[in-house]
Amino acid sequence: MSEADYEDTRSEQQWQADLTPEQFRILRKRGTERAFTGQYWDEHASGSYVCAGCGQPLFASDAKFNSGTGWPSFSQPSNNDAVAEHTDSSHGMVRTEVVCSRCGGHLGHVFDDGPPPAGKRYCINSASLKLVAPK
Ligand code: FE
Repeated sequence: MSEADYEDTRSEQQWQADLTPEQFRILRKRGTERAFTGQYWDEHASGSYVCAGCGQPLFASDAKFNSGTGWPSFSQPSNNDAVAEHTDSSHGMVRTEVVCSRCGGHLGHVFDDGPPPAGKRYCINSASLKLVAPK
């Protein structure tokens, strides 16, 4: 998918104005926050984790589990259309990048060592998320 395929087509300058420097570095530049430093790795409150860039719901707190990695970790997205996955061959590894399907913002990566039944571990940057309390 190219940038033009996403519904949210904000320009780079607009993103820079709308996001904090840390959010911009991670969401728009495929950055990674340091483990155990983000807002949500040890968060246990209920709610919906939405995209910090565009507000699309991405993960439910029910799917969050303690992975021990220092990043918020989820067993599945809130629905199959919430995220898109791309092969990422950077840094000498082949990983699967996870992005918001609405704005293309970088969220993190998905690995195959998660809890049963699906066995997926969505390893997500806190800076890409915003926890919205249930109504
Ligand atoms: Fe988004």
